[in-house]
Amino acid sequence: MQVYCDFDGTISLDDATDHVLSRLADPQWETVEALWQEGAIDSGECMRRQVAMIRGERSTLDAVLDEISIDPGFASFVQFCAARNFPITIVSDGVDYFIKRILQRHSLGHLPVVANLLITDAAARAASYKLLSPHSDEGCKATSGVCKCRSLGALGPRVYVGDGCSDFCVSDKPELVFAKGKLADFCDDRNIPFVAYQGFEDLTLSLRAALPRLLNREVLPRQHAAA
Ligand SMILES: [Mg+2]
Ligand SMILES: [Zn+2]
Repeated sequence: MQVYCDFDGTISLDDATDHVLSRLADPQWETVEALWQEGAIDSGECMRRQVAMIRGERSTLDAVLDEISIDPGFASFVQFCAARNFPITIVSDGVDYFIKRILQRHSLGHLPVVANLLITDAAARAASYKLLSPHSDEGCKATSGVCKCRSLGALGPRVYVGDGCSDFCVSDKPELVFAKGKLADFCDDRNIPFVAYQGFEDLTLSLRAALPRLLNREVLPRQHAAA
């Protein structure tokens, strides 16, 4: 079994990129955000333009990243998976460096991360940043910086955990989807089976209960969270 987890809003309680931008970027970042919301630019383009607006040395950036908290049940979930040899991969349309820094602070820096790549130019008088998207896919309708459907391995059963728009393109592929927020609405509208969750604490209990059928490759019935 292989577990895939979104990062922003799923593992982190707040969106790491939005937090960094609100603290360190030129205020124009919100104009770029509005262009994305209007559909004028895709999420990859939006992120690349916004990351270029971040000001401050790496140490300043690190201090801002250290303000971000993660779901209090995530570390136990990682232990639950490690005890059963279920590898976890983090797939995110966010920024790899932000995610790794946050995970390291919670002693979870060993988890592999598939995300956009932050390049720091520290040689300049003021540090500047740029974002590369090595995991984008022209053919994916998601038009994001990281195509999650392409990042999913073929080896099942695959469990996916997410909460938002960046998870839409992958949501009908895994054998089991845990969804909250916009992702749950999306799956609901399209009749994509999913299990609703609030956080990793209840998710771990749901996964434990689903394991026998999942590992038996039985098709899981549509489920909703117990109240
Ligand atoms: Mg998310
Ligand atoms: Zn995709």
